[in-house]
Amino acid sequence: MRNENTIGFIGLGVMGFPMACNLLKAGKKLVVFDINIEQAAKLPCQENVMVASSKEDLAKQVDIVLLMLPNSPHVKETVLGKGGLVEFLAPGCLIIDMSSISSTVTKEIAKELDKKQIDLMDAPVSGGQTGAVNGSLTFMVGGEKENFDEALVLLQIMGEKIIHCGEVGSGQTVKIVNQLMSAVNLVSMSEGFTLGVKGGVDPEIMHDVILNGSGRCWALEDRMPVILERNFEPGFTVDLHAKDITLALEVGKELQVPLYATSLVHELFKTLQAKGEGRKDNAAIITLYEELANIEVAKRKKVTTK
Ligand code: NAD
Repeated sequence: MRNENTIGFIGLGVMGFPMACNLLKAGKKLVVFDINIEQAAKLPCQENVMVASSKEDLAKQVDIVLLMLPNSPHVKETVLGKGGLVEFLAPGCLIIDMSSISSTVTKEIAKELDKKQIDLMDAPVSGGQTGAVNGSLTFMVGGEKENFDEALVLLQIMGEKIIHCGEVGSGQTVKIVNQLMSAVNLVSMSEGFTLGVKGGVDPEIMHDVILNGSGRCWALEDRMPVILERNFEPGFTVDLHAKDITLALEVGKELQVPLYATSLVHELFKTLQAKGEGRKDNAAIITLYEELANIEVAKRKKVTTK
């Protein structure tokens, strides 16, 4: 049985930090590592936080390591790179990668780890920073069912819905599909609302109506309210969403599946990045349309008459 009381945690960013907080609040001891050394000092329950000086130092103290890193190269380097986890974790250990990365890279990493009898599960999440803070994330998990069953209690501290999607890599595949769909939804909503406002309709009225129509989608429910408030503070950045769209295109290429809408949406995200707006919230995609139509999809000032 692996030690589930002391866990390794690498990547204390927007998502990883609140997830680590929830583990600590649930009484877990954490051995943490982040290239940004200031993050660990901000964690609660400091008596249960051990700051590792390196990946080697971390790997020698735990049986289970959680990763919450930006993208495939960061995960690959952390696990397989020089001084990486593969060199120092004992056989029988488990790595749970909660980052959103390539399903192909995940399978490659799993193959290398298998040579040292180290297990890997991919467990990317949806639910954003709010879900990470509230412990209400959805986990989509790929890997051996035995490992899934063993890790369930741990993942339930950070999430509400924990779904086993199949063999290693399948969690990432589901996440990529989700991200592709949310990006396309976001763009279709931006296009439609720009047209409607240019046509003279109050966007709040359009929002109310379409929430009950067949155009209803996550973008309308979750992103339109921030657009109406003109709040483009992230949230989930254009850069991170563009990364996920790129992952979808890579998988489409490998599997020879044409992705027409995704390719177009990718160009729109790239345009916003080229304009230097990659750090804005992904809802900012609507500003591309607004500029061309010379309107703003904003709440209208209410005129009060006495
Ligand atoms: P982030 O950039 O805020 O955090 C990443 C953390 O990893 C940072 O603290 C960084 O210093 C650290 N880091 C980077 N390289 C490292 C290395 N080699 N070794 C150790 N630490 C390293 O990113 P995030 O928003 O927390 O996202 C993490 C992952 O979760 C991404 O794959 C993202 O796509 C996914 N995700 C994000 C959200 C969101 O709303 N932000 C939602 C769902 C999924």
